[in-house]
Amino acid sequence: MEYDHIVIRYGELTLKGRNRKIFTTQLAKNVRQALKDFPAIKVEKLRDRMYIVLNGEDPDAIMERCRKIFGIQSMSVALKVENDVEVIKESALKLLTEAENVRTFKVSTKRSNKEFPLDSQQFNQVLGGHLLANTDDFTVDVHHPDLEVSVDLRDEATYITTKKIFGAAGLPVGSSGRALLLLSGGIDSPVAGFMTMKRGVQLEAIHFHSPPYTSERAKEKVLDLAEKLSFYGNSVRVHVVPFTALQQKIHREIPNGYSMTVMRRMMMRISEAVAKKEGILSLVTGESLGQVASQTMESMHAINAVTNYPVIRPLVAMNKDEIIRISKEIDMYEISIRPFEDCCTVFVPKQPKTKPKLEKVEQFEANMEFEQDIQDILDNIETVVVEAKDKQDEDMDDLL
Ligand code: ATP
Ligand code: MG
Repeated sequence: MEYDHIVIRYGELTLKGRNRKIFTTQLAKNVRQALKDFPAIKVEKLRDRMYIVLNGEDPDAIMERCRKIFGIQSMSVALKVENDVEVIKESALKLLTEAENVRTFKVSTKRSNKEFPLDSQQFNQVLGGHLLANTDDFTVDVHHPDLEVSVDLRDEATYITTKKIFGAAGLPVGSSGRALLLLSGGIDSPVAGFMTMKRGVQLEAIHFHSPPYTSERAKEKVLDLAEKLSFYGNSVRVHVVPFTALQQKIHREIPNGYSMTVMRRMMMRISEAVAKKEGILSLVTGESLGQVASQTMESMHAINAVTNYPVIRPLVAMNKDEIIRISKEIDMYEISIRPFEDCCTVFVPKQPKTKPKLEKVEQFEANMEFEQDIQDILDNIETVVVEAKDKQDEDMDDLL
C-alpha cells in the first residue's frame, strides 16, 4: 500500500491569529518553490495544516527537501481514505504489516469530524483490536512504539499517518520582510543569517572586499556561503563592495588605534545606503558581545552611531562554541574555515582601541570628505544573484 500524501504541520504558525493566512500563504509558496523538481505534486493549503498530494512522487525525497523549509513543525507520510470504519481498518492493517522493522505499535486517533460514529477513544480500541486480531507478531506499546498509527478523522476524509519527522520550525522565509546581512567569510555572520532567516526574513547580503589584498577565492568563499543560505529561502543577492581605496585612505589618515572603528562605521554607512536603495529595512551582523575589540560595548556604541537602522544581532549573547555548533549543523563550517584573508584582518591595526570614544571618532572623520569615497563605492558595487544548486541536496547535513 503506497502513501499518497504528506501532511505538513505548522506548529508556531497556529499562534498567529489573524496573521495566519499571510504565513500559510507564504509557506505554501515556499514549499511549491522548493519542490519544483517534482512536477506531479500538488500542494493543498488548509487552515491548520498542509497536504502535499504525491501523485506518484517519492515521499522520502520530498520530506528531505521540506526539512530545510522554515515554518514546518513536523511532517508525516499519509494515506487518504474515505470516512468508513471498515476501509480505515483494512488500510491501517496493510500499512502496519508492510512497515519494515516494526514489532510494536500504538494507535492514536484525532476526531474533528463530529459525524463520525465513534469518538477517538472508542476508535483507538476498535482499530487497535482489529490490528491485533489480524496479525500474529505485533504487540501494543503505548510509550515507545516502533510505529505510531495516527488516524485523523476529518470532515472531508480520513488521513492515516505514520513516521512523523520534525521540520526546521521557525517562520516561513518572506513572511517577516527583508534584511541586509553583512556577510564576511567568517564563522559568525553566516550563522547570524541563518538565524534571521529562521524568523521568516528574506536575506540579501553585502560583502566588503579589498582586492588585491583579498583574493578572488576569498570572494568565492563568501558566494559559497551565500549559496548555502539560499537553500533555506529563495536566491540571495550578494552586493560585493570594492573597499580597497577607502580602506587605504583610512589606514593613511586615521590614527592607528581608531582605524578599525572608522572602517566599521564606513561599512555600516555603506550597508545602510544599499539597504535604503533596495527598500530593505534592517541590517544583520554576526557580532557577539565581547568577542573581539570591535565588539565591546564602547565599540558597538561608536560603530552603531552612524545608522539609525535596526541592526539585528542574533548572536549577541552566544558563546563561540554554540555558534560553531550551529555552523557545523547547517553545513557552513567547512567553508568558513577555508584559510582566505578577510578585508578586516588585512588592515586591522595591531592594537585597536577597545574603548573608542565617539567624539574622538567623529573628530577624526571630520574634514575627511568620506562622502565622496562612499559615493564612488556605491557607484561600483557588483551584485551577484546566488541560487541554490541541486547537488547540495545530497551533502546537506542534518539540521536538527
Ligand atoms: P565573522 O565570523 O562573521 O567574520 P567576526 O567574529 O570575525 O565575525 P568581526 O570581524 O568583528 O567579527 O565582524 C563583525 C561582523 O561584521 C561580522 O559578523 C559581519 O557581520 C561584519 N563583517 C565583518 N567583515 C565583513 C566583510 N568583509 N564584509 C561584510 N561584513 C563584514
Ligand atoms: Mg570575521
